[in-house]
Amino acid sequence: MRHLFTSLLFLTALTTQAQHKTILTNTTVIDGTGRAPQSHVAVVISDGKIIAVTRGKLAVSPDDVQIDCTGKFIMPEIIDCHSHVGNLKGTSTSPENYTSENVRRQLAKFQDYGIAAVLSMGTEQPLGIALRDSSKAGQVPGTTFYSAIYGFGVKNAMPPAGIGARIYRPETPAEAIKNVKELATFRPDVVKMWVDDFYGQFKKDQIMKPEIYAAIIKEAHKHNIRVAAHLYHLSDARRLVANGINMMAHSIRDAEVDSSLITEMKKKKVGYIPTLSLDEFAYAYEDSPSWLNDPFFRNSIEPGVYEMITSAAYKEKVSKNPVTAQEKTALKIALKNAARLYRAGILVALGTDAGANPLRAQGFAEHLEMELLVQAGLTPLQVISIATANGARLLQIDSTQGTLQTGKKANFIILDKNPLDDIRNTRTISSVWNNGVKVSDGPVAH
Ligand SMILES: [Zn+2]
Repeated sequence: MRHLFTSLLFLTALTTQAQHKTILTNTTVIDGTGRAPQSHVAVVISDGKIIAVTRGKLAVSPDDVQIDCTGKFIMPEIIDCHSHVGNLKGTSTSPENYTSENVRRQLAKFQDYGIAAVLSMGTEQPLGIALRDSSKAGQVPGTTFYSAIYGFGVKNAMPPAGIGARIYRPETPAEAIKNVKELATFRPDVVKMWVDDFYGQFKKDQIMKPEIYAAIIKEAHKHNIRVAAHLYHLSDARRLVANGINMMAHSIRDAEVDSSLITEMKKKKVGYIPTLSLDEFAYAYEDSPSWLNDPFFRNSIEPGVYEMITSAAYKEKVSKNPVTAQEKTALKIALKNAARLYRAGILVALGTDAGANPLRAQGFAEHLEMELLVQAGLTPLQVISIATANGARLLQIDSTQGTLQTGKKANFIILDKNPLDDIRNTRTISSVWNNGVKVSDGPVAH
């Protein structure tokens, strides 16, 4: 017995010794919690996790790998709580583009842009279910893929058929319940539904009826699945909150939020995903935005998109589109609402709707979203928390990631410039790390 015990001790010692550490020295850490940055610290990583962020003396063994990070800035990887995976290819968005290869390519691209996880909002094809499962099990390279699988819309209305051929479009509460039961067997990470008239393109009676979404929400909750709603109007938001929605997947942007809605959202712990970049992308190329020729942007767009957005025909289409003026006003309201809800203590998480159309560039959109959140009046430090820790809370993965703290996964981005000086410095990606391993040197040209 005593002999066995000694052997076990010896074994444990051996294992500990064999496990080398990675130590990033003399760096500045923005840990995602919202606390002030820690400068001249070392980040010590072992077994894929952060075991210390310290200014103290380091116990370094000969096997340890030390990397000098003088002048660099380390922040957690980004979490995008509203994206779409697999449907976008070139200048088209369609279910035909949804192949394993296309999904994998996009997961790799997201990762190059420093994104740890994306929540794809309800536009999968059947092969996406197994890919989502494998990705969550760590078996697919790239960003981790969470999904609402097949969302809920309205017959001949939202969402337009091009985005997802498998959308449920129940016409009665009983049908909605049946659909949720089926969806639950695929274990969606959330249930997604569309409650909107698409800039007035659909009539009021073509918006999902409250008795339908009430049935979806109730049934989803029976299966312990939270419900996210695509929305636009304050009046819909109010009814959705009253019916138990768990998160808003876009900004309320027809009117400013009021204190009665804020009180209800707080009481019911409703999360808020503003997707501000969606509104800016809708009209940005009427002119030439500052990012147009930045390689960080150019590497994110699909083949053919640059030619499209710089063409005279496209610019004319945008300036003549009556929705353009509405989008500009919508963004102004959305910026105000994001700041107000954040300051009121609502859980605001980053989302983009990246991949829902060719303008919403996967990878770049997330960094533009952070810039817009700063424009809304939040500080870069607050915005980094929204993009990292808050996304992890919304996805309920915050016990293992989202912040750079002892015991959490070593998932982070190393930046060349300080994002607290200018949020656009999140685009100076030097490298991306997942589970303590460098997985990317940043976006690549393709
Ligand atoms: Zn979407």
